[in-house]
Amino acid sequence: MDFRLTDEQQVLRKSVREFAEAEIRPHVMEWDEAQHFPESLVREMAALGLMAVQLPEEYDGSAMSAVDYCICIEELARVDPAVALSVAAHNGLCSSHIFMFGTDAQRQKYLPPLARGEMLGAWGLTEPTSGSDAAGMRTTAVRQGECWVINGAKTFITHGSTGGVMVVMAVTDRALGNRGISAFIVERGTPGMRPGKKENKLGMRASDTSEVVFTDCRVPAHHLLGELGQGFVNTMQVLDAGRIGIAALSVGLAQGAYEAATKYALQRRQFGQPIAAFQATQWKVADLATRIEAARLLTYRAAYLKDRGQRTTRESAMAKLFAAETAVHAADECVQIHGGYGFVKDYPAEKYFRDVKLLTIGEGTSEIQRLVIARQLLSE
Ligand SMILES: Cc1cc2nc3c(=O)[nH]c(=O)nc-3n(C[C@H](O)[C@H](O)[C@H](O)COP(=O)(O)OP(=O)(O)OC[C@H]3O[C@@H](n4cnc5c(N)ncnc54)[C@H](O)[C@@H]3O)c2cc1C
Repeated sequence: MDFRLTDEQQVLRKSVREFAEAEIRPHVMEWDEAQHFPESLVREMAALGLMAVQLPEEYDGSAMSAVDYCICIEELARVDPAVALSVAAHNGLCSSHIFMFGTDAQRQKYLPPLARGEMLGAWGLTEPTSGSDAAGMRTTAVRQGECWVINGAKTFITHGSTGGVMVVMAVTDRALGNRGISAFIVERGTPGMRPGKKENKLGMRASDTSEVVFTDCRVPAHHLLGELGQGFVNTMQVLDAGRIGIAALSVGLAQGAYEAATKYALQRRQFGQPIAAFQATQWKVADLATRIEAARLLTYRAAYLKDRGQRTTRESAMAKLFAAETAVHAADECVQIHGGYGFVKDYPAEKYFRDVKLLTIGEGTSEIQRLVIARQLLSE
């Protein structure tokens, strides 16, 4: 077992960190307050290979590993978790689904522009009445001649109003339950598809989250993604990989909060000494650093196994569960160490505290991760 990053991975971490510090850090609060994700940043990230980290070069991807992907997402999240969320949804849900299950023609058509940052990818599973119980979706796709006609609504969709292409899950045969759900590629501007309400969010505000409504939206038959009836099964495989990305996002956010907390603890003086001199603060710092390191190891293990072609349902869920809950704790302690200054927008603590809550909810809540882990353990 070798726990060291390669020289290339260290260079990758350094370059993404420098980019995030220079191009993202100065704008974090402005984008958060305006709920704005700048398109120019997408192009810049694409130039660094961040919009197609794991795609092969033939699709203009960076052909990096899952561990490399974790490093990229971590470094973005350390500075702005909202930007990292958008990058993770684009790479880990939309592009990944098309790459894993698309035909050659679908891959050729959609992956290069997604990789070049010419458009953002969205992925629609959640509906107003089906979140954790995703298979209970109501959106339908009915075959009519050479088209599929989609009706329904997806909610809380990352890039729901800004995405150029969306992977949409819909029921194609209700009688078949999970095996009667299929995935479709829907391009922005397709008649019958329109963005609905843009959510005004607690955190992750720079990342667009919107409803998407389908009313007699006709897509050509060849927009079926993967086999008919396999959409839900494929979705679970996409999520196995996607959750590693959310785990990495959690590690990065926790790292950012930890660094902000320790920096402040060394500067802030009370009772004639830095608050870092109090053992109560030191224990917080020690516990945080230890938990973050453990979360990072679980995350890299899941990524390492994915890189070796292994199915990682249990490992991804464990990494996502532990890393997300670690991040919530880190953001909480970060505010606590800042005292009243953690409650105001002049310091980064309050934004980490707002952003972090998504991590125990998105791509499966903590309760659902426990359910997945328990199912895996008890069926072994
Ligand atoms: C910012 C943001 C971005 C998102 N991006 C996307 C996206 O791009 N695409 C997409 O498809 N979705 C997206 N989502 C949706 C997200 O995946 C869902 O919100 C999440 O899966 C939870 O579903 P829900 O909100 O309907 O909660 P519910 O499923 O209603 O859950 C409510 C509570 O009940 C608990 N619960 C439910 N079932 C069980 C059970 N069996 N056992 C124990 N507890 C249970 C949950 O853990 C939770 O605590 C996003 C959400 C947000 C907030």
